[in-house]
This record gives sequence, structure tokens and C-alpha cells, in this order.
Amino acid sequence: MSQYDIVVIGAGISGLSLAHHSAAAGLKTLVVEKTERVGGAVHTHQFAAGTRPFWVELGAHTCYNSYAGFLEIIEALGMLDKLMRREKAPYRMLVDDRLKSIPSQLNFPELLVSVPRLFFLNKRGQSVKSYYSKIVGRRNYDKIFTHLFSAVPSQPADDFPADIMFKRRARRKDVLKSFTLPNGLQSVTDAIATAPGIETVTGSDAVQIEAKEQCFEVTIANGDRYISDHIALATAPEVSAGLLRPVYPELADELARIGGAAVESVGVAVAKQVVPVEKVAGIVAVRDSFHSVVSRDTVPDDEYRGFTFHFKGDQIELDAKLERIAQVLQISAGDLELVATRRNILPTFRIGHGDHVDRIDSLLAGKRVLVTGNYLRGMSIEDCVSRSASEFNRLRQQSG
Ligand SMILES: Cc1cc2nc3c(=O)[nH]c(=O)nc-3n(C[C@H](O)[C@H](O)[C@H](O)COP(=O)(O)OP(=O)(O)OC[C@H]3O[C@@H](n4cnc5c(N)ncnc54)[C@H](O)[C@@H]3O)c2cc1C
Repeated sequence: MSQYDIVVIGAGISGLSLAHHSAAAGLKTLVVEKTERVGGAVHTHQFAAGTRPFWVELGAHTCYNSYAGFLEIIEALGMLDKLMRREKAPYRMLVDDRLKSIPSQLNFPELLVSVPRLFFLNKRGQSVKSYYSKIVGRRNYDKIFTHLFSAVPSQPADDFPADIMFKRRARRKDVLKSFTLPNGLQSVTDAIATAPGIETVTGSDAVQIEAKEQCFEVTIANGDRYISDHIALATAPEVSAGLLRPVYPELADELARIGGAAVESVGVAVAKQVVPVEKVAGIVAVRDSFHSVVSRDTVPDDEYRGFTFHFKGDQIELDAKLERIAQVLQISAGDLELVATRRNILPTFRIGHGDHVDRIDSLLAGKRVLVTGNYLRGMSIEDCVSRSASEFNRLRQQSG
């Protein structure tokens, strides 16, 4: 049975960034991933067909120069010079099957009267709807902003805490304001997983954690077992709760209380000359079967245009999704040359979430178990990376 300083369960950006810090500190680090690929919701799908390869992002698509922790890792991997600019293109709203500019939908007098409230209203304790409808005006909120905000977590966001959605962070002036990489964001997660000092096992999920006298034993689905001083859970809350329940039931109960919403993403590639739709960065839907569309027009290709539609979970079958995609792109379903799908569960945040995470953290104090993920301090890549860094710092402080 192999022995490690730390076994990380889950190879999304939360688990991989934690593994990066652990390996950099010289700890013997193993990452266990259920699926055959690492990256989780950082998922660049590479289409192999066609004369040249073409990719679309099925999950995360944009990173910013305010992502200090993520950039620190990219820099440590020697990849800072690979970052590339996303070309400018507008966002549109799909209203009654027509693409409209967002300003064209705004009621400007209402906005002008409301927006000064930005300077004295506090987000704390307020929902997205209660806070932002005061800032942009109630009619503007109901007509436009509720849809824009729901497009971010791919689920209704009206009842999310206002302070979890958009965070002010210092920007790195030496880095492009928003960026991707020539082969998509998954280049970063792939590079972390194959960096020296990190061992990765894919295609087998962790099924059991047992507490031994001074260590843990992790069993994975293929029957392999690993001994480790520390365990890091970097999976969805219900999975981490299930694994931790036999060892720390109270902690498991707290994790299990965090809900989630499914998003079913469909990425398509279409011959460039076929799509009449104007160049767009993305489309926000209004009362539709999908929340939003993310376009590859920001990284243009000579041959293809790519679009990823983020559909509401469990509502319509793939054929119906493809029909809807074709309607929106004003083409026939037969023009959808390449298709790829992915299902994610994104966390649902409610008022009081911060206090809930404080309780989780107080239960974790002093334990050799680390818990990270997009359901704790926020769901952006940077939120995940910074949670993992703070959990790793706790391990270091506890170990003296
Ligand atoms: C459609 C979409 C668009 C997004 N866009 C952006 C964006 O543009 N910018 C941004 O900053 N953020 C974006 N996000 C958010 C961000 O990408 C995610 O919150 C983040 O990548 C989640 O990382 P994670 O590691 O916490 O979880 P995940 O990526 O879900 O990783 C968890 C991993 O654990 C594995 N696993 C599960 N069970 C087990 C088990 N028992 N044993 C072993 N492994 C297991 C899973 O297979 C998975 O690989 C987006 C998210 C989605 C879904």
C-alpha cells in the first residue's frame, strides 16, 4: 500500500491548486480523480475532426488579471507568457428570439436615478435581487439584470447573497485584463496535474476514507488503497459529505446542507460561413431552456465558429437542445458539425452562507482533513484557488 503526506480527492481546479501548493512545499502528493480527465469544470473540449483541431470551453471560459492566486500558479508553471487576449466582441440578450444589445433594453432614466445608491448601500446581508434592484431600478432588474446575474452561476441568482457574486480584487497590471490560452484554459489544469511532485490517478473514484491511529486510509473504486497523513476533499459537497460521514459525521452534515443546480452544457462547432449571427462574446437568454451561450468568437478561428449553450438541468433531451441551438444560430440542425456535452452541478448560495462556512471551518480546525471546492467562499476559479491556498496554509500552521 503506497503512503503519502496528502491524498487529494477530486482533480478540478480546487484539488489541483491544493496539490500544487502541497507538492511545492515538498509533500508527497497524490491526486485521485473519478473521471479519465483532470480539470473538472475547467473543460476545454478538443474536437479532433476537420482539417485542423478546434476547441470549445464546456465549462469555465474567462479568467481575469484579478485572479492573483491562479496567476501565481500559472507563473510557477512557466506559462505566464502563454496567456492570450480574448478579442473584443459584444454580449447580447436573446429577447423574443432576437438578439438585442443590453443598453437597448435599459431604462436609462430609472438607472440614472437609482445608481447613486451604489455609494451608500451595503451588500452585506442582502440578496442579489434586493441589493441590485435598488442600484439599477426595479424595472431594469426584472427586465434585464435578473437574467444577466442568473447567467453567471447558470441558475436563478435572485436569492444569492449579494456579496458572493462579484468581488473586488486587486488587478495585476502586467497581465492581460481577461485572458485564455491558445489551447483553452484546460492547458493550466493539465499542466498542474503533470507537474513534478504530483502523482495523479484517474478513472477511479475514492469510495471510502477510514481513520487509522495517526493517518487515513483511502480506498478507490478499483480496489487500490492509499495511506496518508492528510486528506483533502475537493469534490462536490454531497460527495465530500458521503466520504467524510464515517469519520466526521458532524462535518459531513454541514457539507451536505449546501445545495446545487445542474447545468447541461452543449458545445458546437459550425463552419464559419454558415452562421449568419453577428460576432458575439456571449448571449444571455430571457426565459428560455438555456441560461446563456459562450462563444469562441473571442478566440477566432479561420474555419469554425464555436458556441457553448448552458442549458437548465434536466429539462429537455439532447435532440431538442440541438434544435434550439440551431434556431438561435439561425442555421439548420444538420449544420452543427461537431457536438460535445458536459453536465456540471454548480452550488446554490443563500443568505447566511458565510456563517455556514465559518461553522464548517470551526469543525475543521485542528483536523488533518482539508475541505475545498467552489461551494465554500465562491465559485469562480480564483475563489477555488484561494480557498485551497488557505486550507493548505492551515495544514502548515497545524503541522508547525
Ligand atoms: C458552465 C460553467 C462556466 C463557468 N465559467 C467560469 C468562468 O468563466 N470563470 C471562472 O472563474 N469560473 C467559471 N466557472 C466556475 C468554475 O469553473 C468552477 O466553479 C470550478 O472550476 C470548480 O472547480 P472544483 O475543483 O471546485 O470542482 P469541479 O471542477 O467540479 O471538480 C471536482 C472533481 O472531483 C471529481 N470527483 C467527484 N467525485 C469524486 C470521487 N469520489 N473521487 C475522486 N474524484 C471525484 C470530479 O470528477 C471533478 O473532476 C464556470 C463553471 C461552469 C460550470
